[in-house]
Amino acid sequence: MKHYDVLIVGAGPAGLAAAHAAAAQGAQVGIIDDNPLAGGQIWRGGPDLQTDPRAPRLWNALRAEDNVEFMPQTRVMYAPQPNHLLVQTSGAALTLYYRKLVLATGARERLLPFPGWTLPGVTGAGGLQALSKGGYPLRDKRVVVAGTGPLLLAAAATLRAKGAHIVAIVEQAGTPALLRFGLGLLATPSKITQALQLASQLSGVPYLRDSYVHSAHGDGTLQSVQIQRGGERDQETLQCDFLACGYGLLPNVELAQALGCATRAVDGQIAVTVDQWQQTSVADVYCAGEGTGVGGVDLSLAEGRIAGLAASGYQQLAQEGFGARARWRKFAARLARAFALRAELRTLAGDDTIVCRCEDVCHGDLRTHTGWRSAKLQTRCGMGPCQGRICGGATEILYGWRPDAVRLPISPTRVSSLIES
Ligand SMILES: Cc1cc2nc3c(=O)[nH]c(=O)nc-3n(C[C@H](O)[C@H](O)[C@H](O)COP(=O)(O)OP(=O)(O)OC[C@H]3O[C@@H](n4cnc5c(N)ncnc54)[C@H](O)[C@@H]3O)c2cc1C
Repeated sequence: MKHYDVLIVGAGPAGLAAAHAAAAQGAQVGIIDDNPLAGGQIWRGGPDLQTDPRAPRLWNALRAEDNVEFMPQTRVMYAPQPNHLLVQTSGAALTLYYRKLVLATGARERLLPFPGWTLPGVTGAGGLQALSKGGYPLRDKRVVVAGTGPLLLAAAATLRAKGAHIVAIVEQAGTPALLRFGLGLLATPSKITQALQLASQLSGVPYLRDSYVHSAHGDGTLQSVQIQRGGERDQETLQCDFLACGYGLLPNVELAQALGCATRAVDGQIAVTVDQWQQTSVADVYCAGEGTGVGGVDLSLAEGRIAGLAASGYQQLAQEGFGARARWRKFAARLARAFALRAELRTLAGDDTIVCRCEDVCHGDLRTHTGWRSAKLQTRCGMGPCQGRICGGATEILYGWRPDAVRLPISPTRVSSLIES
């Protein structure tokens, strides 16, 4: 069994900031992440290779410490007793003991069903961005980027830099909400700089506001998408090879819920409840970053640092980060207001549109059920390999359902690991 003062799940910005803060105070720190490399979503591909100077700075500082251990390709299987986690690495099952645990599990994209969304060539916006960062070839491919939120701009900029032709960015939010959000950026000058950089990287790309993808079409693979422009009766067809479509982010709360941490609804998302020290409702368990609510990299870094310091017993130092956290929480609230989903998105799926992609369950099979549990038991919705991570976000929007129980293991586990443990 391995022992840590502070064990961190998730090596994105929040997890790395928590690790750095705790390690600098002399704590024995362990970091586990299910990816092969650290960095989380925004610093995918490794923090040492990022242009944001905070990423290599954090990573190099952590690598220089001999009280920090990073375990890649490692995920939690089970919590056999308080302060213990049973994890699966790429080759073995291990028990980790912690004095304090920091959950920094981030967020995932919300995907919504519409006719044709299961055609090859249709992906999430961040999903196609992640594929391209991993080497998936997109040179000269025509890509429509659609959905909502600033991630569309970041994804489109990455795809363009990889040689894709961005046909259009299709944003469901309306002009007044976008203008209000733009004005709100005055409170966070670094975001204005970022917005200007993105605008220059995307110059010439049509940005269709108040618009959404109505359906995707193609014979075996994607060939075109139909766009509904707000207020207009006619739809517009865009020819493309890829549609990268994501409707904002959802906090990854499953591990926290399985450990018994309380959650709450915040800005339409379920997020982990934390106190001023980022401590959850469970003793010795903290949460930082997008698991506590979606707010971007700066909020994740601020929360991670507070959690790392508080978990290692340095509350006074942690308190110095409260101002930055409050500022970025306000930014998160403006983000949620500006990119709230429009009601029409609930009406796109037809009876034969698949909602649960793992188990091939259609909208027509689901809409008569009264809740997640009944649908799950009678249709197998949410019982496939993703365990509801994709369809859970969709069924919440379509039918107002929320999963009522989460049990470990929350992700597929090797039988050999279960036997070994
Ligand atoms: C697909 C995608 C692409 C994004 N791209 C951008 C972008 O280009 N620009 C931008 O500004 N923002 C982007 N974001 C938003 C970005 O996620 C946040 O701004 C920021 O990275 C959040 O940091 P975090 O540390 O809270 O979480 P994350 O960066 O999400 O890190 C969480 C880490 O925890 C790991 N993890 C989760 N659960 C477990 C588990 N049970 N066991 C082990 N490991 C686990 C994950 O694999 C991940 O590495 C993106 C988000 C997503 C979902």
